[in-house]
Amino acid sequence: MKMRSFDQEKAILYLVATPIGNLEDITFRAISILKSVDKIYAEDTRNSTILLKTYQISTPLESYHEFSQELKEEQILKELQAGKKLAIISDAGLPVISDPGYKLVKLAVEHNIAVSTIPGASAGISALIASGIAPTPYTFYGFLDSKHGKRIKELEELKYVSHTLIFYEAPHRINEMLLDMKSILGNRKICLARELTKTFEEYIRGTIDEVIQCLPLKGEMVVIVEGLEENFQLDHPLEKIDELISLGYKPNDAIKETAKLGNLDRNELYKSYIQYKNNK
Ligand code: SAM
Repeated sequence: MKMRSFDQEKAILYLVATPIGNLEDITFRAISILKSVDKIYAEDTRNSTILLKTYQISTPLESYHEFSQELKEEQILKELQAGKKLAIISDAGLPVISDPGYKLVKLAVEHNIAVSTIPGASAGISALIASGIAPTPYTFYGFLDSKHGKRIKELEELKYVSHTLIFYEAPHRINEMLLDMKSILGNRKICLARELTKTFEEYIRGTIDEVIQCLPLKGEMVVIVEGLEENFQLDHPLEKIDELISLGYKPNDAIKETAKLGNLDRNELYKSYIQYKNNK
C-alpha cells in the first residue's frame, strides 16, 4: 500500500538516528525533527538527556524499551491514532537496528500510520566501509546468541555465506565469540572496529587468530568478517544438500544453492543426489 510520509495534518512515527559516540554526528534534520515532534520515546531517557541538552531540545521525553512494554505500545499507538507526531531514538545509531523500535514500526504500518526514517550513523555500516573487506554484498547479523550452543548453531548457518558478515559484540564476550567463529568459519580475515567516532577509535585487521592476540580490548565493537572465499572447494556437496534440507530448504532449492556454492553443474548434481539417495 502506498503511503506518503509528509502530510502536515497526519500522525507520523519518525525513526531518528543519533550519534554512535561523537555527539557531533547528528544531522540538522534530526535536530529539527526532535525539536518539532510532540514527544520523543527513548530507549534510555538518562542517556538521551545528554544529547537533547547538548542541542537544546526540550521536547517531552519518555522511555520505551521493547521487552516490558505492551501497554506502552498501546499508549504510543493511541497517541498516533490521535494525530500526534512522535520520534523514536535509541542509545546510539539507528533505532530498530539491534535496538528497540521494530514492534512499533510494525504496529504503525498495520494501522496505516506514516513511518519515516531520519538517517544517520549506524555502527555496523560505519565499520564496514572502513574495514577494507568487500563492502557488498553483505549480511548484517547483529549480535550472535550469548549462549555457546546457540551461537555455534548460528555460525553453522553462516558458514557457506559468501557475503561479508557484520556482527555486534560486547567486550566481555569477544574472546569466546572469536574462538567459536574460528572453529566454525575457519581462520578468516576480519576487522574488529572499536570505539568508532570516539577518542580511542581503532581498527584491528588480520586473521581471527591475529586479532585474538590483541585481546582483551575494551569498549564497543563491531566485527566485520570476510565471506566464504570465491575459490572455496565444496568437498561434500551431497552432504551439503542434506544439510540445507535439514535447515528447511526445499530439495530443489538445496541442490540449486549447493551447485552455486561449489560452482557445480546443477543437472549433474541433481542426478548424483538422486543416485546417492537411492543407494542410502
Ligand atoms: N542501533 C545501533 C546502530 O545503529 O549501530 C546499535 C545498537 S546495539 C544495542 C549496540 C552495539 O553496537 C554495541 O554492542 C557495538 O557492538 C555496536 N556499537 C555501537 N556503537 C559503537 C561504536 N561507537 N563503536 C563500535 N561499535 C559500536
